[in-house]
Parts: sequence; C-alpha cells; structure tokens
Amino acid sequence: MAALTRLSKPACSAFSSINGIRRCLASAIALEPNGPSYVPPFALSSNLPRKDPKDRNVQWVFLGCPGVGKGTYASRLCNLLGIPHIATGDLVREELASSGPLSQQLSEIVNKGKLVSDEIIIRLLSKRLEAGEAKGESGFILDGFPRTIKQAEILEGVTDIDLVVNLKLREDILLEKCLGRRICSQCGGNFNVASINVKGENGKPGMSMAPLLPPPHCMSKLITRSDDTEVVVKERLRIYNEKSQPVEDFYRSRGKLLEFDLPGGIPESWPKLLQVLSLDDYEEKQSAAA
Ligand SMILES: [Zn+2]
Repeated sequence: MAALTRLSKPACSAFSSINGIRRCLASAIALEPNGPSYVPPFALSSNLPRKDPKDRNVQWVFLGCPGVGKGTYASRLCNLLGIPHIATGDLVREELASSGPLSQQLSEIVNKGKLVSDEIIIRLLSKRLEAGEAKGESGFILDGFPRTIKQAEILEGVTDIDLVVNLKLREDILLEKCLGRRICSQCGGNFNVASINVKGENGKPGMSMAPLLPPPHCMSKLITRSDDTEVVVKERLRIYNEKSQPVEDFYRSRGKLLEFDLPGGIPESWPKLLQVLSLDDYEEKQSAAA
C-alpha cells in the first residue's frame, strides 16, 4: 500500500511534464507518415522530465464503462486536488460542436456508437494539453484516456501515471443509467433521470441510486443525446469491454490498477473512494481550511 499512502498528501508544486506529454504525443503522430501507429515509448522518453511524485501533483487515470460516472468522480477529485480534469469525451464533444476540421468525421463515428480512433483522440488531447500548459496547469486526471493498449503505451512512454482507478458497476444498472442521461440544451449541464432501486439477491447487495435531477429552470430543456439509445449503448458497452481488458491488464501488470466497485450512487461511493485513495483526511483538512 506504499504507493497509495504516498498519494495522501498531493504536493502542489508546479510541474512541467504536461509540456513533455504534449510534445511527445505530437511527435508520436508526426513520426508516422501514414497516421499514428504505435511508436516505441523508449524512443520518446529520453528527454522528458519525470519528477518524483512527491514533488508534483498527482497524475491519475480513470477507467470505467461509459455511464459509470467516472466523469463525475474524476471531476470531484480534480476540484478537491486543484488539478485539471481532462476528459477525452468532452474534447470530442467540443470538437463536434465546433466546425473544426475533425467534426464531420467525428459525428459519423459517434452516431454509429463506434469509438473514436487513437489518432483523433491523441490530436485532441495534444491540443488540450497545449492550451492547459499556456494557462499554467499542473497535474491531471485523465478521463477516457488511454482507451486502447496503444494509447496506454504511448502515454507510458512520455510520462509517469501514478495510479489507474477502474470504476465498476453492474451491467444492468449501467444500462439503465445510460438510458437515463439527459443534457440541458441551454446550459449544457449533465443530468440523469434514472432512479435505480435494485433489491439484493443471491448474496449480491442491493443498490439504490437517486436520479441526478436538473434545477427547475433546466427541466423543460432536457434532451437525450442521439447516441443514448439502447442499441447504441449496448454496442458501446460491448466495444468498451472488449477494448478495455488489455488496458486494464497493462496497468494491473505494472501494479497501478485500483479496482473500485461502486457501492451505489455518489453519497455511498464518494466517501469510500476517498478512503481507498487515502484522501479522506485530505478532504477534511480542505474543508477546515476553507
Ligand atoms: Zn440548463
């Protein structure tokens, strides 16, 4: 548990490996004349600053099925630790909403429930890290990246990931949650109208998850994303499971994978998550200081 104990007091010193990631992700693409296939990490890592984790902010990855709520937990942790939450899903949606060069290509992929290619994700991530670096960001939680073993290998080659948190939730509940997702068409807020109440059976504990309802002024403006139909969601989960297994194995074999079975909604899960991350004291200190 040494690795986890070490994380209990995240240092807040400035750190510069974001710059390194951006540079190396960019060069990983540039090196390939026909698009970014795998570039051996050792070729990229030689000139990069790799700070001791105690001298910099945390560098974590959050894994989990679409709809598991990893964005919510990653975002809360980022607020707590004062680090950026970099969600590749958001990067994709932002690009889709823009009239950027990739938006047409992206909308075709997303509407079919397929996953976006490594090349596009790395291009978007690279752009995001560059923008963050200009604002003086430090540390990060990556959400939705790496999604393939190739991406994990590229990432491994350019920076140190301290910990990979794999959030898990029963598949039937996951599907119900995915179908309950709504977005406010006016403010862009994310909500969930699914009210989950599963009784415990065959030794499995019951689970209840309250809906995440919008404030009254958003209620009449809720829309469902076009890719949140049952067929598309099931296909997305199938593809996710198939692709995530090697990524999980990759980090498991390096001793960096922390499996976390969500015991319920945010009220049940958040305190337990802080506990396993050795951050429960950290949150108390933060609120005392505030
Ligand atoms: Zn709204």
